[in-house]
Amino acid sequence: MRSASNGTIEVADRILVTGGAGFLGSHLCARLLAAGHQVLCVDNFYSASRRNIQPLMQNANFELLRHDVTFPLYVEVDQIYNLACPASPVHYQNDPVQTTKTCVHGAINMLGLAKRLRVKILQASTSEIYGDPTVSPQPETYWGHVNPIGVRSCYDEGKRCAETLFFDYWRQHRLQIKVARIFNTFGPGMHPNDGRVISNFIVQALTNRDITVYGDGSQTRSFCYVEDLIEAFLKLMQTGDEVTGPVNLGNPAEYTIGSLAELILDLTNSKSRIVRCPLPQDDPRQRQPDIEQARAMLGWQPRTPLKEGLRQTIAYFDDLLRTRGER
Ligand code: NAD
Ligand code: UDP
Repeated sequence: MRSASNGTIEVADRILVTGGAGFLGSHLCARLLAAGHQVLCVDNFYSASRRNIQPLMQNANFELLRHDVTFPLYVEVDQIYNLACPASPVHYQNDPVQTTKTCVHGAINMLGLAKRLRVKILQASTSEIYGDPTVSPQPETYWGHVNPIGVRSCYDEGKRCAETLFFDYWRQHRLQIKVARIFNTFGPGMHPNDGRVISNFIVQALTNRDITVYGDGSQTRSFCYVEDLIEAFLKLMQTGDEVTGPVNLGNPAEYTIGSLAELILDLTNSKSRIVRCPLPQDDPRQRQPDIEQARAMLGWQPRTPLKEGLRQTIAYFDDLLRTRGER
């Protein structure tokens, strides 16, 4: 419950966030709590750190349920954000069968829940839908270029199948769906060992270890700061029935991985050397979102420049590593 400005008592929305203890999920839970909602965080802690949700545990409006979304869930809520799924290639390739199950069975279970409750459901989809794109920047109309049997397929095809399910529930059951195609997002709260490029490079730079650039470093990515992304999630969830997505959410500023390594070295004043390592199989050559739809439908665009977001993220990892005595 919360007080409205006119003094009456409003019932706050009860919002389910699956994967709520993860990097994006914990930021989303914090924002929803700050807005006065009740949050049910569901997570099996496959790739989460308890540290992420520690500050939320004291909040009476926050509830944590350890649960694997590949199994059905019976709860009563007013909205669902479906984020449960490891996002880092290292994590999602560690148990690929479980990754596909999480994407597909997780989507079926959460869509079934949304159908029973007749509530809006937002899916955390991904730019990996586009695979190794032959079109740049990638608009939502691009169908993608995905290897169906490679090491990334458990995630790419799992997320593609989840999108199919979302749109079939919308067509067949008139469910209110919101599909967000998220491009690489970073910020405080990332797991130091999750293997993603920004966390790897910052931790390596802060501990003066070699910076591991895979391949020749000419592949590109576009990095969105986490606060900007969460803003877009909230705006997307607030849209009416006519908006289903899929909508690209990300920062269109594109960088090579080599230039990202140089920038992080510069911002951390690190003595680390840049070393070349083998390029992982099916690593996309380029990635840049076309965000015209997000601009038009949500009136949203990212506000945080890469350098500013990196400064915040470096400060977070610096603090984390010092606390652990690793720096
Ligand atoms: P994350 O790994 O930090 O968080 C995922 C969370 O899901 C973790 O807390 C994990 O324990 C939980 N989880 C995994 N399998 C589960 C299961 N079967 N049941 C319940 N919980 C489970 O990753 P993130 O960066 O926070 O990503 C969140 C979502 O956003 C994911 O669905 C991911 O695919 C999507 N996404 C993220 C990015 C990004 O750059 N961060 C980009 C594209 C898409
Ligand atoms: N990468 C890298 N060094 C690392 C980690 C990643 O060069 O230590 C590269 C990786 O090969 C990819 C890019 O950085 O080209 C982004 O990788 P990440 O795992 O963060 O996300 P992806 O976009 O590939 O899912």
